[in-house]
Amino acid sequence: MSPTDAPGDDTAGATPVTPAPKTIPARASRRDSRRTAGGLPGLSGLSDGELDKWFAAEGQPAFRARQIRDAVWRQNASTADELMTLPAPLRARIDEAFRIDTIVEDEVKIADRGLTEKALHLLSDGALIESVLMHYPARGFGGPGRPMHRERHTLCISSQAGCAVGCPFCATGELGFGRDLETAEIVDQVRHAARRLGPSGRTITNIVFMGMGEPLLNLDRVLEAITILSDPRRFALGARHIVVSTSGVVPGIRRLTALGPQFTLAISLHAARDPLRDVLVPLNRRWPVAEVVAAARDHARVTGRRVSYEYVMISGVNDTDVDADALARLLRGDLAHVNLIPMNAVAHTPWEASSPERVAQFAARVRQGGIGVTIRANRGQDAGAACGQLAADAAGEAAAPIVARRRETIIRQSEAALRGDRSVENLPADLEVAVKAGGKR
Ligand code: SF4
Repeated sequence: MSPTDAPGDDTAGATPVTPAPKTIPARASRRDSRRTAGGLPGLSGLSDGELDKWFAAEGQPAFRARQIRDAVWRQNASTADELMTLPAPLRARIDEAFRIDTIVEDEVKIADRGLTEKALHLLSDGALIESVLMHYPARGFGGPGRPMHRERHTLCISSQAGCAVGCPFCATGELGFGRDLETAEIVDQVRHAARRLGPSGRTITNIVFMGMGEPLLNLDRVLEAITILSDPRRFALGARHIVVSTSGVVPGIRRLTALGPQFTLAISLHAARDPLRDVLVPLNRRWPVAEVVAAARDHARVTGRRVSYEYVMISGVNDTDVDADALARLLRGDLAHVNLIPMNAVAHTPWEASSPERVAQFAARVRQGGIGVTIRANRGQDAGAACGQLAADAAGEAAAPIVARRRETIIRQSEAALRGDRSVENLPADLEVAVKAGGKR
């Protein structure tokens, strides 16, 4: 996905709040600072049981686990030296056994006059992932008929390095799949953002799993991360302030429904018609629109929570009146809300974002069909706006013939889709493997 106003955030375009932290120039020193993880587990991703077991095996009293939890989650420690409440020999022992921080370096770009901070994170094995911190100033004055919207700080985080789904409008999709993130690598994105916010007295109020990767293809670790982030003794963020998005991994949605979570489910829909969605979200060739929406509908019924549908607006491709009517028909009567997001330009894509007028007309038409719609503002236009753009830039530009071939393929596929032809192509090989492995978890 792209950094946009996340579901529940509707204060786009407001003036900046407190000054944002400085950009950290990381690229130059990256080579020197890289270190191998040596397979050590990340401390922040351990469950209470795992921590207790480790301290017991070390002959340490049980209260040490609480001290570690506090150091990781209250002091946001990133090195063993910062575990100040522990004796020096134990600090050294912990340093040998764990990675205190799984993110080696950050490069932070500030955009939107301080309202958006886009971070490129270097992991221990050299993988690059992104997170985006979006600030929303307070709005309104409160009082009868004048609702007060509190200041919010929403962090969009990654669940995988790269992504196998390969949506053609997404820079991460262009990068392809790298690997699943460990639980600690997911939650350390949150610790890093919290550390940047800390000096100003602000805290993260919302977390959205809409960064790099398909969260439901790394679901075990995403669930572990949510457990940690919503644990009152650790990050203590209410589950209702967490959004998990998916491009449509139906077994994963059904598994979430069975767990009965309180967080919000978001479906990256982008097209209501199968031929078009086959192209825009290749996973649709495995789980088509009707199956995805049926699973999401069941989720809303069982949990009582409204499902968000994300819809990237692409000029002349999925923004026609026919598409608006199809979308309204698809979701009519559901506990659902649609977020329209103008597309970010991505190098290999021949498409452009829909015009603001077209987005407004599309929204009006869907609303006439009885569906709630919000038009989201794109964030980070001046800092590599598209999801995966910073990592793609770091990876270097693809050769011109490769980009040209990709564009030709996308044009050919989308022309066929607009004629109404279903895709006859198989899932991309990476995605086939990921679906087989992750779709069952
Ligand atoms: S599912 Fe993957 S490829 Fe598709 S938009 Fe999300 S990150 Fe990009």
